[in-house]
Amino acid sequence: MAQPKKKTTKSRKRMGQWKEKIDAPNLVECPHCHNLVLPHHVCPYCGYYDGKEVVAVEKSKKA
Ligand SMILES: [Zn+2]
Repeated sequence: MAQPKKKTTKSRKRMGQWKEKIDAPNLVECPHCHNLVLPHHVCPYCGYYDGKEVVAVEKSKKA
């Protein structure tokens, strides 16, 4: 079996994982206002989650 030539140190392993972590977060389209929002979060633009308005959003944002 092919083997790695050198042991991956904790430092190298963590640096690689850190790079993965800084990639852009997952975004899904809000079914109500079609903005990109974080999954499993109340939409910050329209305050909707799961088809219901759960948070009242300031009028200036609603337009
Ligand atoms: Zn929305």
